[in-house]
Amino acid sequence: MSTSNTAQPVQWHVRQAVQPAPEKRAWSVQAVQQLLDKPFLDLLFQAQSVHRAHWPEGDIELATLLSVKTGGCPENCGYCPQSVEFDTGVKAEKLMSVEEVTHAALAAKNAGATRFCMGAAWRAPKDRDIEKMNALIGAVKGLGLQTCATLGMLEPHQARSLREAGLDYYNHNLDTAPEYYQDVVSTREYQDRLDTLQAVRAAGISVCCGGIIGMGEETVHRAGLIAQLANLNPHPESVPINSLVRVPGTPLADAEPVDPLDFVRVIAVARITMPTARVRLSAGRQQLGDAVQALCFMAGANSIFYGDKLLVTGNPDVEADTALLRKLGLNDYKQPVC
Ligand code: SF4
Repeated sequence: MSTSNTAQPVQWHVRQAVQPAPEKRAWSVQAVQQLLDKPFLDLLFQAQSVHRAHWPEGDIELATLLSVKTGGCPENCGYCPQSVEFDTGVKAEKLMSVEEVTHAALAAKNAGATRFCMGAAWRAPKDRDIEKMNALIGAVKGLGLQTCATLGMLEPHQARSLREAGLDYYNHNLDTAPEYYQDVVSTREYQDRLDTLQAVRAAGISVCCGGIIGMGEETVHRAGLIAQLANLNPHPESVPINSLVRVPGTPLADAEPVDPLDFVRVIAVARITMPTARVRLSAGRQQLGDAVQALCFMAGANSIFYGDKLLVTGNPDVEADTALLRKLGLNDYKQPVC
């Protein structure tokens, strides 16, 4: 599949969950941990059974992420190369123009993406930043893509403004369990995250919220993260699960690598506890390899970040993803809808 801007766009079905959410139940950390501790194949079977009851077979959402304002962030998230506190070689850049973002979004659409997420490295945007973001959101929405943004902490009036501009999803991750949070970031509180999620939900924007595995946390913290996400009412529509990318210069550069099968377990438990969420394989996906990614899809992952930079013809990441989806017979690759 070509990724050039002149190529005929391929339009994938944008599907919602086929079954309504089951009756909401509260998940204790202990109950989630019991799931995480199940024999691997039993867990996979249960997750796949839940997945098939709620989602069409072989359907993977393709979302593209673009950093529209990179670096210079005053927060100190221990995994992030964009913090000003860490010497990672990332240079601060100003907000991209409407033209640049439109160009990238069109390329993403032509490559098959249905959702376009714009990330800006702010602690909390100012109102004038929100106005600029609104222009970007309007431009992306005008291309027929679902819009998503991740901009840091929001006030309720800012969330409403973004919604009026056409924002469909807001990403704001909880990262880990409340008990482990201060080991990862000390410039904000867990409650700050929950407050922003509340403002987003109240504005009528769908919630994209997940976490990161492999930051030195214990299994109980993984269970604590999933319990927090699953107990949001309603649970997030999108749940990105990241495998830590250990960036030199960040405090977590030397974290113990996560066992790939433990990562698959977290995906499976996210699927079981949040049946109608899009569970997304996010950062660190490439380092998992094809076989582990296939297990993640078996465990109920049904969304990937796809081409996580400006897309140009021949982008090798996009081609590798396309080849993997084709190999696994996912996303109607036998019969694309053109
Ligand atoms: S708030 Fe976002 S951009 Fe800033 S350091 Fe944390 S993860 Fe990085």
